[in-house]
Amino acid sequence: ALGYNQAVKENRNLYNMLQELRGNIRVFCRIRPLLHSESISSIEHVGTDGSVMVCDPVKPQSAHKIFQFNKVFGPTTTQDEVYKETQPLVRSVMDGYNVCIFAYGQTGSGKTHTMCGPSGGLSKDYGINYMALNDLFNISTSREDVKYDIRVQMVEIYNEQVRDLLNEDRSSTKLDIRASLNNGLSNLPDAKICPVQSPSDVINLMQLGEKHRASGSTAMNHRSSRSHSILTVHVNGKDIAGNVSRSSLHLVDLAGSERVDRSEATGDRLKEAQHINKSLSCLGDVINALAQKNSHIPYRNSKLTQLLQSSLGGNAKMLMFAHISPDAESCAETLSTLKFAQRASTVELGTALANKESSEVRELKEQVDTLKKALASKE
Ligand code: ADP
Ligand code: MG
Repeated sequence: ALGYNQAVKENRNLYNMLQELRGNIRVFCRIRPLLHSESISSIEHVGTDGSVMVCDPVKPQSAHKIFQFNKVFGPTTTQDEVYKETQPLVRSVMDGYNVCIFAYGQTGSGKTHTMCGPSGGLSKDYGINYMALNDLFNISTSREDVKYDIRVQMVEIYNEQVRDLLNEDRSSTKLDIRASLNNGLSNLPDAKICPVQSPSDVINLMQLGEKHRASGSTAMNHRSSRSHSILTVHVNGKDIAGNVSRSSLHLVDLAGSERVDRSEATGDRLKEAQHINKSLSCLGDVINALAQKNSHIPYRNSKLTQLLQSSLGGNAKMLMFAHISPDAESCAETLSTLKFAQRASTVELGTALANKESSEVRELKEQVDTLKKALASKE
């Protein structure tokens, strides 16, 4: 039996290594525990091999459905265990890779729990956002050969408008997305960008962002389930030889993926429903186009895909958390999330490339700049 387990483990490692090379979108499924008000689970089985089996208890005669992902985290999985599996991807940001991690799932399935922690990160049971930044700091202080500069932006997309969550002046928070700058710079040049030097800087910024996210609406939970929130970490590195790297890490808590019943929605609710569906369905379209290797990828159809363009496809690394509720009542949404995630996991991205520039190239670029300036002053 030991030999068999060993073989399974090796097979698994090989699979993950291949996956790494192919640069697929990685998909982790996370199942939250049943809440007190819930009693019947639709999750039949969680395999250690990344499989999950779902059965609708209301229609037990219908077939059990099995889905396969890179990993499945059952209801008892801790935040630390989840982060441990996410860590290698986060760390690759320090080597110049663009990384995008997003949380997908219906409202109440645990997206914010995974990204921020319980009650939006106000307790010590921190989520990925905080642990990732903490990790990046640890690396930056431990590396003597590279000097890193880490800066943070935080925005939300609500009703197809991008708003700055870190701007204290709440009257001017609307942001425009500029044409994608494929050099690792922000495509939100007017968003406040805050240098961070310690984990406590990060906590302060996250709390500020959460406060601003909430104050936009009287019904905080309602708004947060209707908006996408995006924490972006920009990392610049420079080693002693003068080689530079520039990369970004997007940490995205998506709006709830549930179908909004349009027949019942009116006014603002209807507008919201249309806008959220637009951004999420555009994300689906982009993923489909990437999966089919289409020459045209429809990034420009929504703010979300426009904003994340440099991290969706191309040379970036992507991880999607598919969040599901075990509650039998949510079975239809659970199946729809799992199907979406399954589709995403078939996307082959190009081999991820680090955004590095050798000192030679940079010196030459600087010389060109100097010569251009000299020329300009002579004219
Ligand atoms: P979402 O952001 O997807 O709407 P939340 O993260 O707010 O969902 O989670 C909904 C509820 O479930 C919250 O009360 C949260 O504390 C709880 N919850 C979610 N995931 C977990 C988990 N892994 N362990 C314990 N409780 C969880
Ligand atoms: Mg949430």
